[in-house]
Amino acid sequence: MKTGTKIYLDQAATSYPKPEAVYRRADRFAREVGIGNDRGFYRESRRVAEIIDRARAGAAELLNCRGEDIVFTSGATESLNTLILGCLEAGDRVLISPFEHNALTRPLAWLAERRGVTVERMAGSLETGIDLDRLKSSLTRETRICAVNHISNVFGLVAPIEEIGGILKDYPETIFAVDGAQSLGACPVDVEAAGIDFFAFSGHKGLLGPTGTGGFFIREKLVGLVDPLKFGGTGVVAPGEVFIDRLPHKYEVGTQNSWGIAGLRAGLDYLRRETVEAVRRRIDSLTRRAAEGLAGIDGLTLFLPPPDRHHGIVSFNLDGLPPRETASLLDRSFNIKVRDGLHCAPDAHRAAGTFPEGTVRASFGPFNTVEEADLLCRAVGEIAEAFVNPQR
Ligand code: PMP
Repeated sequence: MKTGTKIYLDQAATSYPKPEAVYRRADRFAREVGIGNDRGFYRESRRVAEIIDRARAGAAELLNCRGEDIVFTSGATESLNTLILGCLEAGDRVLISPFEHNALTRPLAWLAERRGVTVERMAGSLETGIDLDRLKSSLTRETRICAVNHISNVFGLVAPIEEIGGILKDYPETIFAVDGAQSLGACPVDVEAAGIDFFAFSGHKGLLGPTGTGGFFIREKLVGLVDPLKFGGTGVVAPGEVFIDRLPHKYEVGTQNSWGIAGLRAGLDYLRRETVEAVRRRIDSLTRRAAEGLAGIDGLTLFLPPPDRHHGIVSFNLDGLPPRETASLLDRSFNIKVRDGLHCAPDAHRAAGTFPEGTVRASFGPFNTVEEADLLCRAVGEIAEAFVNPQR
């Protein structure tokens, strides 16, 4: 089989391509407005403020919160670090799901080492997801944060965030934090319905914006409890020497990534027009098609969550072929881009039994096609024929 054009199936890392308007708006903004903040009294300054506010309103609409509760950052990593490094103290306990990304586990491990924070992992497996009964018994009044990865970036396992939010209603002192890096824009999210206190998102994945964009929703009651990660200029007259204890200035300091946010706004407009629900359905059908196609290949093991909790990602391995080899053959021989290894989430692999070798990961976005999903399956089939079953 020959494939000429590039087939990009690494949407879980960053979405590509973007809607045309994302490139156009970022380019136009850079040429016509160009500045980073609304610090001045000239008209371009007002334009920046307008564009950033509209992007804020767009993200807020997707999350069902107020625009003023949205803070822009460079991505989900910075957002999660802000929460973790900004509020945990010696002796605090944190309960996390078994499928967390290093963006959450690494700052936590650092705090465990340096500040004596205790990190506990919920019970669960790929087949069953998070064990909610065990979650209930693991929670205590001292649990400061309960953190859950909404959609696993390794397996596409969707966490039952509404049910977890329901359980956490009995623990008002516990911050319910959700890592939505893989979910916002790709499936509906409602921070009110799920009782979420902090929601970290990427702008460059499901929201279809440029790299270097992202943010978080933070419930107003937490603003006094979570210190900023960075300190600096806001352009707003500060009554205090250290920072302004108010959104978004407490967390948005220095020159903003305004080109990126202008592009992100176009991504949000696209989702508004097309609807997240339609995008979700499209991604779901591609994921199912790829999973079904790969399932028929001899010597291939699929690592699938239950079908009703599976979204966007298919992880697999070929017998006897290291994930890197498979990914490299897919690229070199078929121009198909997939990821290999641990995908920055070793815990998730431990929970699924794929540690330390990891998996090959194909991930889908709204611009992938049925033909591309089928070509992936054919290409993997050919690799399996050549390397896994060479006698046939
Ligand atoms: N959490 C998860 C689940 C992710 O998949 C990623 C990106 N791979 C991140 C956090 C980090 O996101 P960002 O690249 O926006 O910092």
